[in-house]
Amino acid sequence: MHHLNQCPVCYSESLNHAFSCVDYTTTQETFQIQSCNHCSFFFTNPRPADDQLGKYYESKDYISHTNSQKGLFNRVYQLVRNFAIESKFNLVNKLNSNGLILDYGCGTGEFLGYVQKRGRTVLGVEPSDAARQQAIQNHQLNVRSLDQFLEIPDHSASIISLWHVLEHVPNLRETLSKFHRILQDQGHLVIAVPNCSSLDAEIYGPIWAGYDVPRHLWHFTPKTMKALVESEGFNLLTMKGMPFDSFYVSMLSEKYKTGKMNPIRAFFNGLKSNWNARKDSGKTSSVIYIFQKK
Ligand SMILES: [Zn+2]
Repeated sequence: MHHLNQCPVCYSESLNHAFSCVDYTTTQETFQIQSCNHCSFFFTNPRPADDQLGKYYESKDYISHTNSQKGLFNRVYQLVRNFAIESKFNLVNKLNSNGLILDYGCGTGEFLGYVQKRGRTVLGVEPSDAARQQAIQNHQLNVRSLDQFLEIPDHSASIISLWHVLEHVPNLRETLSKFHRILQDQGHLVIAVPNCSSLDAEIYGPIWAGYDVPRHLWHFTPKTMKALVESEGFNLLTMKGMPFDSFYVSMLSEKYKTGKMNPIRAFFNGLKSNWNARKDSGKTSSVIYIFQKK
């Protein structure tokens, strides 16, 4: 296990045990979530050592790395994902219609393949060998490993996107600082992550699926995300909500709680969460943060 003695956002050593969470998808092991007494950042601590993290991704349910069409749940997930891909494309394409789009943690390449089809120059980075090979074969993408990521030249990308990826990245600050170097001046960094200050997180408490320990190492709120990324040389331009995630996360949370998806109750909790966030996208279940390089 790897134990952090300092908050990665503000470097305070005053850390507090917040609550315990169970790894419902793979091992059923319990992990501690700590919070920083100074900046309120929540993170999984201790966490598995970097070379042990791989085994926590070896689950058939871990659909972000597969394309299973089996079961209603996965089919709905795929449908929503296709709709989401189009919205994500429109969002990044509007930020800058020229230059390279780098997708960090591109998985099997569904988003980036679509972006390439729409005529943009793209590059993916993906640590999983299996997912990377699928992205290359299924979508004819140029995808690098983590080692090759370090060789990407400075000032080469106009946009870097991370769709539900930063919460998995062990070396947070090194990675953000490399993004800063890779981006052109005024380039955009687009980061989507679960929001543990959303109403659905409050409703489900420690069983909220957005905690997804130990795969999720960091549990962001708008306040801690802004503090972390701005301290690496970016400005937060705006935040956007991801209203579908509240339903998806509520269904998963219901499954952890009761063994069943309880789609109706999940739907109402998702709706409640979206209603609560109707005037403030910083309150949605997941938030897309749009930063610009200073
Ligand atoms: Zn802190």
